[in-house]
Amino acid sequence: MNILTLNAGSSSLKAALLDAATGRTLFDMTAERLLDAPVLQFSDGTTIELESKGPERAIAVCLEALADKLKDHQVDGVAHRVVHGGEAFDRAVRITEEVEATIESLIPLAPLHNPVNLKGIRVAKDVFPDVDHFAVFDTAFHQSLPTRAKTYALPKALAKKYGIRRYGFHGTSHKYVAATAAAFLGAEPSDLRIISCHLGNGCSVTAIEYGRSIETSMGMTPLEGLAMGTRSGDIDPSIIAYLNREAGLNPQEIDDILNKKSGLLGMSGISNDMRAILDASTQGNADAQLAVQVFTHRLRKYIGAYAAIMGGVDAIVFTGGIGENSPIIRHRVAQRLDYLGAVIYEDFNNSVELSDTHPVAEFNMRHSRVKLLAVRTNEQLAMARECARLIQKEDSVNTLPTIPVAISARHIHLRQETVDALFGKGHELRVKKWLSQPGQFAAEETVTVVGPRNQIERVRVLGPVRTVDQLEISRTDEFFLGIDAPVRESGKVDNTPGCRIIGTAGSYDLEDGVICAWRHIHMTPQDAEVFAVQDRDVVEVTVGSGERALTFGNVLIRVSPKYKLEMHIDTDEGNAAEINSGDEGVLSETSGLGVLVKRRVG
Ligand code: ADP
Repeated sequence: MNILTLNAGSSSLKAALLDAATGRTLFDMTAERLLDAPVLQFSDGTTIELESKGPERAIAVCLEALADKLKDHQVDGVAHRVVHGGEAFDRAVRITEEVEATIESLIPLAPLHNPVNLKGIRVAKDVFPDVDHFAVFDTAFHQSLPTRAKTYALPKALAKKYGIRRYGFHGTSHKYVAATAAAFLGAEPSDLRIISCHLGNGCSVTAIEYGRSIETSMGMTPLEGLAMGTRSGDIDPSIIAYLNREAGLNPQEIDDILNKKSGLLGMSGISNDMRAILDASTQGNADAQLAVQVFTHRLRKYIGAYAAIMGGVDAIVFTGGIGENSPIIRHRVAQRLDYLGAVIYEDFNNSVELSDTHPVAEFNMRHSRVKLLAVRTNEQLAMARECARLIQKEDSVNTLPTIPVAISARHIHLRQETVDALFGKGHELRVKKWLSQPGQFAAEETVTVVGPRNQIERVRVLGPVRTVDQLEISRTDEFFLGIDAPVRESGKVDNTPGCRIIGTAGSYDLEDGVICAWRHIHMTPQDAEVFAVQDRDVVEVTVGSGERALTFGNVLIRVSPKYKLEMHIDTDEGNAAEINSGDEGVLSETSGLGVLVKRRVG
């Protein structure tokens, strides 16, 4: 399937026709100087210089020239890069009038980007009228940010009224390089904690915990976070009022300084191009040297912070023009990370040479627990694949069975040693009630769970005994007990908090094992085939219908011959959605890094 990807910026337009299946680029065009006299370069070696037609017509003349070049190629769909998807889009979508209107409504959040993205869409629909158009959002991958990560500490009503929250950008690239890194390591993204550093003209770093973006350095706009080519990244927000008061600059001028005249360019006074900065720094230019130091220091700070948030890291990925090509920047960022378990191998770092056939290089010591990887990003291919999947999905009308929903109250799984400590040596758990999952039972035994703030009595023990202790509580329980428990799948208790539990014969201090269970669906391998999903995929499920329909994102698939088809949510979620055990859900779509499954229609 051939997909034309378009990236319309304020002064340039990039287009590429890709075969989504093979990843091969069939044709591409770069148009620069859109606002003056556009210069178009094509992959067939030709260049066209157009006379200025004014900014209104610039995109149209470029796309008309492109369409002429593509007249002998098949184009099955057009994928448009859109910078800001706001709250509205957590994935790529087919462009309808409603989608266009929503992108337009988000212009206040991205005044530099969304208008030109939208213009690209509208012009391309005229120039390529016979194919469907799709929008791929830079923000979509970060819609999984937990509330604590996306919330600015501002007055709630003000933030809500103006949509002020952290959205994150470069999502297509972060998602793509995380998946590429995981494949290189022979793992699933859902097995890894990855810190991905996208270092191009714009720079951002993302913490991807078991396949989901849970923290990212860009915020409501792409200005927050790392020092970039021309953007300042993090500054004390008071500087803005100070510049206004003391330097007499108005908001527009300050915005301009922070977005276009700061970063590497501002600090060095030389260039926004890292190559020029590095050259000047080796020749002894002190401003360029400082620019390099600020750039790498800031990134090291974020890496440490993100490792802390995830309780560790398995791979640190460098991508984008700088991340892929600059050994000295990778060295400055990744040295002395031994305390994290990441040990750089300088020879490998210096000889990294990425290409289409070798898109990943590892540059850590063999004994390094954390992998250091340079990964070639390919946002165009990622866009083309998303778009091809949407086209294929549309063709697949099917009738998937519904999924029973069960609400899991707080409960605890215990090892035999812990049962001994709580209920007496050799005690065997007694069956009170068999549960729907074969072999699982609610035991007669209950425990008291003691947290730093409060305790909860009569927490049900589930049997049979397991190899790890694990207490599963809801968010409400967490705050009541005073424990900060991460959302985890069952069994993944590394770096989780513990607590004290009390039984009839004694008490026991859990070192770890307290989690908020990640909402999940149990199914057999046969069910998995029917739903076209695999173990550990992340899907979306719609429960109920009509006005009461509620969609749960981020639902983990667990496949085992021992399971019975059932979705488990916790009491908080059940209450919020007015769901009772016995309601039924419909698998609507996968998200995150999982594969895409068919949509149920009708
Ligand atoms: P964009 O964000 O526009 O996609 P890129 O990902 O192409 O940008 O990255 C551009 C940046 O990469 C520029 O700062 C450029 O100097 C830098 N870069 C490219 N090659 C090298 C290199 N060999 N060494 C250092 N920096 C490089």
